Amino acid sequence: MGLGSDMYRQQILDHYKNPRNYGELEDPTFSHVGENPMCGDEIRMDIRLADDGETIENVAFSGDGCAISQASASMLSTKLAGKTVDELLEMDRDDVIDMLGVDISPMRVKCAVLAEKVAQDGAEIYRGELDKEKTTTTED
Ligand code: ZN
Repeated sequence: MGLGSDMYRQQILDHYKNPRNYGELEDPTFSHVGENPMCGDEIRMDIRLADDGETIENVAFSGDGCAISQASASMLSTKLAGKTVDELLEMDRDDVIDMLGVDISPMRVKCAVLAEKVAQDGAEIYRGELDKEKTTTTED
């Protein structure tokens, strides 16, 4: 492990211990929940869009789970504000792993991508392109 990796590990622990945008929005445009049963992670994402119906204005998350899942949700919440829904939907697991900055074992990838999947599914449900009550990481 190099110094760079240590720095990213510190960042993950910091987001885990001091999560950004933790809580629930009073007036979300959409909110969605998901879980990673393999690890016991649960995430709720609240997203408010600007008046254009496209630009993400405000994000909050809440949940419970391992450091990777919660830190990933916290980091994602800080990255999404200002992005469009299309940009959110274009994100993939590599974007999340780049954001975390550490090597993630295949088992932990589900922890890492949970928040992203919840936000994306929420956006697709909002657009009427998807119909599900809850996102789970066991689907893929
Ligand atoms: Zn986990």
